[in-house]
Amino acid sequence: MIKEGYDETLDELRDVHLNISEWLENLQKSERERTGIKNLKVGYNRVFGYYIEVPKGQIKHIKDEFGYTRKQTLANAERYITEALKEKEKIILSSEEKSVRREHELFLDLRERAADHIGVLQKNAEIISEIDMFLSLADASESLDLIRPELTEERRIEVSQSRHPVVEQVMDAPFVPNDIEMSDDIDILLITGPNMSGKSTYMRQLALNAIMAQIGSFVPASQARLPVFDKLFTRIGASDDLISGKSTFMVEMLDANHAIQNATEDSLILFDEIGRGTSTYDGMAIAQAIIEYIHERIGAKTLFSTHYHELTDLENHLEHLKNIHVAAEEEGDSIRFLHKVEPGRAKSSYGINVASLADLPSSLIKRSEQILNELERSNGAQGLNNDFNLFNIEHLVQESHPYEDIARAIERLDLDEMKPIEALTTLYKLKEDLKNRR
Ligand code: ADP
Repeated sequence: MIKEGYDETLDELRDVHLNISEWLENLQKSERERTGIKNLKVGYNRVFGYYIEVPKGQIKHIKDEFGYTRKQTLANAERYITEALKEKEKIILSSEEKSVRREHELFLDLRERAADHIGVLQKNAEIISEIDMFLSLADASESLDLIRPELTEERRIEVSQSRHPVVEQVMDAPFVPNDIEMSDDIDILLITGPNMSGKSTYMRQLALNAIMAQIGSFVPASQARLPVFDKLFTRIGASDDLISGKSTFMVEMLDANHAIQNATEDSLILFDEIGRGTSTYDGMAIAQAIIEYIHERIGAKTLFSTHYHELTDLENHLEHLKNIHVAAEEEGDSIRFLHKVEPGRAKSSYGINVASLADLPSSLIKRSEQILNELERSNGAQGLNNDFNLFNIEHLVQESHPYEDIARAIERLDLDEMKPIEALTTLYKLKEDLKNRR
């Protein structure tokens, strides 16, 4: 709390502590000279405190006049203390305690004196914090290439080349800027596109542009016209509150409820994949009902991302809803993310392509493609055919190499980063695993 140079007593107390190793070195040197014992050592241990250590073979050189008192006996050395060292030990050990006490006293005194000027100090702090905030925003505007937004009284959003100011800083690849447009008569943008394509990022961009504009900051875009929002509601990312007994889905529903109960037509709502924590039809039904409710009863500007492609049909029925999607390109089994937001619905959800990027076993990926085809053939409505066994494990095992997972586990080991003991433990585990399968 207290800087050096403010109080002499405090500085001295701190010096004692800081200079200790130098003092001990000097003592060792002078004791070696005084006693003629070349390998005499000065040291410290927590139980016995400071000591002078003399090897057993040299003890005969110790004379009464040195003033050495035996403190501890080791197998091949004796440890001693002298009056001078004892004195110093006291000073050293108490100096830290004293310096803490002194610092506290100084603080109390300062606090006492500050209390007389509390009004001025608080006013100053307020002014300085405001200057600091605007200075930081100005600095960020310069370094992050932000522009001055325009706040209007229209119900229109026009943000050109919008960016996410944090994601773009941490990425190695270039960030793809996107336009966010909602005319007066469009309240809901329904966003589709594969996982990892950038839907959440896009939604957050609008929220950040709105918040930054409304706190008086410049915004990350090339041009921005925004209305003034009265409130902002978000339900983004899966989080749960298991401690208080609420599942992810329950938290999601509570958040959704909070938003629709409190939003007005001047609010901004961001709903990221609402309804996915339950069965497909359940989730889709809830998602659609929420969209309809916002559309009919609230009229808040809303970004709603979803994996339920069926929901994109709503564009034909809800006049204030528009489909947009984040583009991606299929590359064989894999997928390339373009991060570009375009009008219309996404062609497909590419879930299996994204799964294959995560390195799931190829037999599993093949199997999911097969199930998907089957589902699509039976149109989803009747569910799976009777003769189609969803949990046909035997089939899976036949398709894949019996020890594929073990082979993969070995493949993933980073041997250069492993300690020999870790390598050995891993080998034991793998062997155990093999044994259990036989
Ligand atoms: P989704 O919500 O569609 O699953 P995210 O918004 O979480 O996807 O984005 C996934 C990742 O893609 C981000 O962590 C980021 O690295 C990258 N990303 C997202 N948007 C962009 C963009 N506009 N330009 C470049 N990379 C992006």
